[in-house]
Amino acid sequence: MAIYKCFNCGRQISHKSLEKRFVCPTCGSKIFYKPRKHITKVKAV
Ligand SMILES: [Zn+2]
Repeated sequence: MAIYKCFNCGRQISHKSLEKRFVCPTCGSKIFYKPRKHITKVKAV
């Protein structure tokens, strides 16, 4: 299952919610991005 994040307010929205209406229910933004499940930590040398 894919989870998207609103680019404007940061709300997490499931892709099922976006199938009906591709807008953020909180702020009405239509810009989303897909956060990565596994965050790669980079160690500073
Ligand atoms: Zn939003």
